Amino acid sequence: MRKPLIAGNWKMYKTSDQAVKLASGIKGSLKSFETADVVLCPAFTVLNAVYNVISDSSLQLGAQDLFWEKEGAFTGEVSPIMLKDCGCEYVIIGHSERRKYFHETDETINKKIKAALDVGLKPIVCVGETLEEREAGKTIEVIKHQLTGCFAGFNIEDMLNVTIAYEPVWAIGTGKNATALQAEEAHRFIRTFIVEKFSQGVANTIRILYGGSVKPANIKELLNEKDVDGALVGGASLEVSSFVDIVKNSI
Ligand code: PEP
Repeated sequence: MRKPLIAGNWKMYKTSDQAVKLASGIKGSLKSFETADVVLCPAFTVLNAVYNVISDSSLQLGAQDLFWEKEGAFTGEVSPIMLKDCGCEYVIIGHSERRKYFHETDETINKKIKAALDVGLKPIVCVGETLEEREAGKTIEVIKHQLTGCFAGFNIEDMLNVTIAYEPVWAIGTGKNATALQAEEAHRFIRTFIVEKFSQGVANTIRILYGGSVKPANIKELLNEKDVDGALVGGASLEVSSFVDIVKNSI
């Protein structure tokens, strides 16, 4: 039985005061809640502030991206070691907004996953098709291509520390979530891919999250599906009540 994981992607929202308020509110509402792993992924600038709020709770910290080098002349970038230093345990890699606006590719995502694993960070790796690709009947083909590129060169041990997020691009921030059946179809394919490329053991262990307009009202139905192990939540993670209700509805 895989423990559900609910991660909040705060994107480019929240100044330090706002971030502390949000993290404190979530912590207060989820005291001694242990039925799901809960990860908060704020912007780099408030990682420390959020860590200071949640470090004495079961909430875990994640970042939204990293660069693959350990250190060096890479202006504007943040290294895996720096994220560890801020108290991060997780890092989102390959979000569709990074693929779209910052031209990330499966090759650069692959390097980032490796770099995260090297320092003991757990990557949450995002894959998913655009509306155009879905309408052209290419959903599975696209996901397969992304998974193949993102995980090229990894072994079973690496994969045991990976979480995958299936995030159909057309469902992100649109209010139009994938149906439970659409999500399950993609998740089942991802798990089968993991069996074929790695092992049944990895496939049984790895958590596959759904992301795309998750709300308190739809989380239960999504999680009822056999291969949906949690959620990566954007918009609804920015308010205490909606995020806490998603976590509470995940059991
Ligand atoms: C996301 O940003 O990963 C996401 C799923 O956003 P939203 O929940 O707002 O669709």
